[in-house]
Amino acid sequence: MSLIPKSHPRAKSLFIREKLVKGFDNGLVAKEGLLAQGRGEAFDYLLGEKTGKPAKNAIRAAAAQLLIAERPVISVNGNIAALCPKEIVKLSKQIKAKLEVNLFYANKMRKQAITKTLKKSGAKEILGLNPNTSTKLLGIDSARRIVDKNGIFAADVVLVPLEDGDRTIALRKAGKIVITFDLNPLSRTSQTANITIVDNVTRAINLLIDESKKLSKKNNTLLRKIIDNFDNKKNLSENILEIKENLTRGVKIA
Ligand code: ATP
Ligand code: MG
Repeated sequence: MSLIPKSHPRAKSLFIREKLVKGFDNGLVAKEGLLAQGRGEAFDYLLGEKTGKPAKNAIRAAAAQLLIAERPVISVNGNIAALCPKEIVKLSKQIKAKLEVNLFYANKMRKQAITKTLKKSGAKEILGLNPNTSTKLLGIDSARRIVDKNGIFAADVVLVPLEDGDRTIALRKAGKIVITFDLNPLSRTSQTANITIVDNVTRAINLLIDESKKLSKKNNTLLRKIIDNFDNKKNLSENILEIKENLTRGVKIA
């Protein structure tokens, strides 16, 4: 049972933290994943812990890109499985994307725990566990380059929430269109991805599901236009400007 009172000014952030700690206790999250969460929290604080206009624009572009994709794949790691498993499965169904468990700190037990969580959340097929279909991405060192032949390896668009920069760069080098959620607009992942949603994944994922549902009724010409009008570098600058403005006037948490 949670001891966090709802009236606590940091209640939401603390609830998210609790999910990660539970995920760690249940074998989903790596120790390093807890630290990644801490880094994200710091940026969330600076962003005012809310979804800004630039994030909303990136969500719209991401939805369009995922809908127009021929072979979209969502890469799932321990943090995502601990934070929003049901939403990730719902999104995969909405955009008809495959799910692949793909870990920065590869570990068979953790992969199995993540798979179990996704299955419990309604996932049918989960890639990334079968050694017979695993292959390697070029341009990245050993354990971190393993991907599934039928998943990320064959994908045209990959959603990699909370990803490390080396991996994002390797995916781009492999010709993939990369979409990410990353609270830090300065990270290498943010700077390398085609579309970066600078927002807490726990807030943004439902917005992405809703936007995908809305845009699924539109034709490809309109979707293409949304993608072409989106400029990731410009969007990142707008996020950095938001942080700057928040710092100048003193951040007020909504
Ligand atoms: P990079 O390798 O891209 O330069 P990094 O080394 O600073 O980034 P990593 O630990 O490799 O960071 O990646 C985790 C990223 O996920 C961080 O940039 C962090 O801000 C972000 N992050 C952590 N928790 C969340 C969250 N709940 N929602 C969105 N982003 C998050
Ligand atoms: Mg990193």
